[in-house]
Amino acid sequence: MIPFLNYDSPRDLRQFLESRKLGMRKMYGQNFLINGDARRRLLDALEAGRGDAVWEIGPGIGAMTAGLLERGALVTAFEIDRGFCAVLREFFGAYPGFTLIEGDALKTWPESREAGDYLFGNLPYNAGAALLADFIERKKYFKRMVVTVQKEVARRMAAKPGSKDYSSFSLLCASSYRVTLLPVLKGASFYPEPRVDSQGVRLDLVPGGEAVPYPGCFFPLVRRLFSSRRKTLRNTLKTFIEESGVRAAAGASAREIAEEALASAGINGGERPERFGAGELGALAGALERLLGTGNRRGG
Ligand code: SAM
Repeated sequence: MIPFLNYDSPRDLRQFLESRKLGMRKMYGQNFLINGDARRRLLDALEAGRGDAVWEIGPGIGAMTAGLLERGALVTAFEIDRGFCAVLREFFGAYPGFTLIEGDALKTWPESREAGDYLFGNLPYNAGAALLADFIERKKYFKRMVVTVQKEVARRMAAKPGSKDYSSFSLLCASSYRVTLLPVLKGASFYPEPRVDSQGVRLDLVPGGEAVPYPGCFFPLVRRLFSSRRKTLRNTLKTFIEESGVRAAAGASAREIAEEALASAGINGGERPERFGAGELGALAGALERLLGTGNRRGG
């Protein structure tokens, strides 16, 4: 089943691509993981086995796909590059456990009806973070995700409140997952060799799917608060309420609503947003929705 291709050899990969008249495209973040040990460790971290439904993002020409299928997983692979898709069909098309979804995963996944309990992928640098954020915001939860992203992105995903890497993306990840950093992968682990380092990240879904049941305005609120991270929570919260346009309907000023929401969530509005975790900001979002009646119009 495994294609007769040495995924660890840049020379073999180059020759294979040339024979198919395929090139590596930077715009799609195409860097193959040519470190067999690293691929095995990432597969181990996913802990998906026989019969488990795995979504793989950006399979390329199948270095990790082969490993997933070898372990008996049912793989739905999302790949944007038409040339790579032709190779994937050739290599794995005959396997009942393999489904290929061609196109931009950001557009194709919401339409996909394929089961996906696990997510795996050496994600493209350009679209990786956006894709993960999209899954979380649209509440497409996986039991476990194991991804490789740029090292700096990995650090942001795992950052804790108050640290310099803490961002709205950290909060997004922490809102539903326990995040564990896996080893750093130097540029030399990839072909072609990128100038930046990568890092594996494992995300385990917290029991119940959400750390707290987040109201619709949670994600827009978090994003707004961190877009002005030097301002106090109170000031940005007030602006957020004003921008939402719901203030008049609630019959109180934005400042009054902000103060009441802060008091109800037990949060000191004089602090900066980066001090707070997902639980606290979730409580703030909940208080805000209660005060604004039907919920924030930007919520979703
Ligand atoms: N999985 C292979 C490996 O580890 O060797 C390739 C990983 S490479 C970093 C990223 C892959 O994602 C490429 O195959 C690229 O074509 C694909 N890709 C990039 N943007 C994509 C998108 N928006 N949707 C689906 N696939 C995408």
